[in-house]
Amino acid sequence: MYKFFFSSAAALFIIAATTTCSVQKASKNTSASTNLAAAGTSEVARIENALASDEMRGRKTGSPEIDKAADFIAAEFKKAGLQPLTGDTYLQEFVMLRPKLGELKYVVGGTEIDRKNIVVVTSQPSLNVDEKSGYTIATIAAGENLFLKAQRLVGEKKNTIVLVDTSMFKNFAGLTGLKRQIFRTPFSTIFVLGSSLPNGFTITATHSFEEMKFKNVVGILPGRSKKEEQVIFSGHYDHLGVGKPEAGDSIYNGANDDAAGITAVILLADHFKKIGNNERTLVFVAFTAEEIGGFGSQYFSQQMSPSSISAMFNIEMIGTESKWGKNSAYITGFDKTNMGEILQANLKGTAFQFYPDPYTKENLFYRSDNATLARLGVPAHTISTSKMDSEPNYHKASDEVSTLDLENMAQVIKAIAESSKTIVSGKDTPSRVKAEGMN
Ligand SMILES: [Zn+2]
Repeated sequence: MYKFFFSSAAALFIIAATTTCSVQKASKNTSASTNLAAAGTSEVARIENALASDEMRGRKTGSPEIDKAADFIAAEFKKAGLQPLTGDTYLQEFVMLRPKLGELKYVVGGTEIDRKNIVVVTSQPSLNVDEKSGYTIATIAAGENLFLKAQRLVGEKKNTIVLVDTSMFKNFAGLTGLKRQIFRTPFSTIFVLGSSLPNGFTITATHSFEEMKFKNVVGILPGRSKKEEQVIFSGHYDHLGVGKPEAGDSIYNGANDDAAGITAVILLADHFKKIGNNERTLVFVAFTAEEIGGFGSQYFSQQMSPSSISAMFNIEMIGTESKWGKNSAYITGFDKTNMGEILQANLKGTAFQFYPDPYTKENLFYRSDNATLARLGVPAHTISTSKMDSEPNYHKASDEVSTLDLENMAQVIKAIAESSKTIVSGKDTPSRVKAEGMN
């Protein structure tokens, strides 16, 4: 349903992933868990303590300290022996814009209509739209989820006028939230409160833009025989930064959210490189800007070709024991594909168990960095141990390494490696997520 734009950056990426390092040595180590078991808790502690240290000052998107975190992750990817995404850098940089509205006019038959009835999401400095501009007309009807659908329409990448049912007039102004950070794109989305578009309308808008630079960190382990098929392991490295002091502590370290996921990504990279038997290409990603809207994963996803991605393991908050205790985790969106069943089958006979996400009301499947690719059909799931109903340090300054169970975390990471082995080897291919309606 959604269009995918194959940019030149994506082309470079595919070339990097498919043509380099074609001669990889045959499996040096056939035991899937040896390296992780050996690294174990001490490596988990080392990486956690670096990412969640007070020096990183909560890794807030846009802060100088988050760049330190990105450099640390890039150095770990290099040490693990991953290849850079393009050229010689592991950093996938991108720019987002913060628009500031100048002039806005909505005129119908010579009469100016109150600008409260219109919200323009654009990265064009100057916009002039009328009936002849060829905009697609979409609607958000009464009873639909205004913000979810609005967000998806903006993401569709075509010039669109969206008629929003007047019953939503109270929340209509909230659509300006869509303009907080936007990607640079030639397409504009105009929201108009009303059930039909009046004849003879013109809409003019001017904006100025502040640029913000973001970076994901991406490393590649080219596949041996199925290079063009990719498996993604990801987490997000941004967190909330520095906030109001709580018991004298104002740094939100984000040890569990999501330094834990990044720790897993780094150790999995090291593990699979050492084993060296991945038939598919493995892509390891540390996303930025998850906490402020998932922009890192959105940008990354736009550079990829969804049809070439066999699976995505997104890892979020695995530092505490799950509701079932040690040696267990859950998979969001379990019933959307058969990936969860594949993972469970690979864990048979181990002490570890993966469960379906028990917090289905929280809609976690669509609330993390797997969501963009999942919407494009990729079997993209999040693995977590977080107790959504009782996690006392969640989004608090007290989310510190000392509150985590590092030993259990090492076991979770080992279990992810073990459970993914038939997908990494190309033996199993999970079913795709079915495209859902716009509601
Ligand atoms: Zn998170």
